[in-house]
Amino acid sequence: MHTQLRENLDRVRGMIAEAAQASGRVADDVCLIGVTKYVDIDTTKALYELGCHDLGESRPQQLWAKSEAMAHLSPRWHMIGHLQRNKTKRTIPLLSVLHAGDSVRLLQAAHADWPHADPLPTLLEVNISGDAAKHGFPPAEIPPALRQIAALNHLKIVGLMGMASLEGGRDQAQKDFAALRELRDQLRSDCPDEILLDELSMGMSHDFDLAIREGATMVRVGSSLFEGFDGGH
Ligand SMILES: *Cc1c(COP(=O)(O)O)cnc(C)c1O
Repeated sequence: MHTQLRENLDRVRGMIAEAAQASGRVADDVCLIGVTKYVDIDTTKALYELGCHDLGESRPQQLWAKSEAMAHLSPRWHMIGHLQRNKTKRTIPLLSVLHAGDSVRLLQAAHADWPHADPLPTLLEVNISGDAAKHGFPPAEIPPALRQIAALNHLKIVGLMGMASLEGGRDQAQKDFAALRELRDQLRSDCPDEILLDELSMGMSHDFDLAIREGATMVRVGSSLFEGFDGGH
């Protein structure tokens, strides 16, 4: 199992390096977040031990369980899925990065529940595809909210997060990623000083190479890392 996992990780890292080079960057400019929502604690540990120290979960309960089981390893936990406000108190203190900053009310709850001195790096999730089933700010709702968000000083807004449309394949995905980058560039020109928008969290197993070409600094990859075994389920 570890051999397979190592091969998968090497392959994904190779693709990241290639796409980074194609966009005039190096592999280290792109953070690989290993999305472990499909696999059990042992497989998550194995991935960590192979050197993938940034781990993403989309369900708070799984993040709690793995964070407890891996406390001695201290991975960097990324919350990539929608967080209900009744779960922030237990989840927010465990995080290294909150990707799913999808409403002002959630950001306010995260601000209130962050117990550490340094602010929590946080991304604003944007519903770039306009898909009604997706979470995230509609692009037009971000500018009027920025001042209110900037005042939440327990959070450090570092960038934007988005997902490609479900329909339309890789061509549409690339357009969605370009749109997120363009939105970021637009917002940057008129943004409170407290808000930085250097990070773009975009790209998953089927499209992370395209996302990197469009400027992604963080890619969230799950299934490609776990191809070839069931991960203990
Ligand atoms: C599951 C998930 C991923 C990883 O998806 P794969 O296609 O398995 O790589 C990335 N981002 C989010 C928000 C997810 O929920």
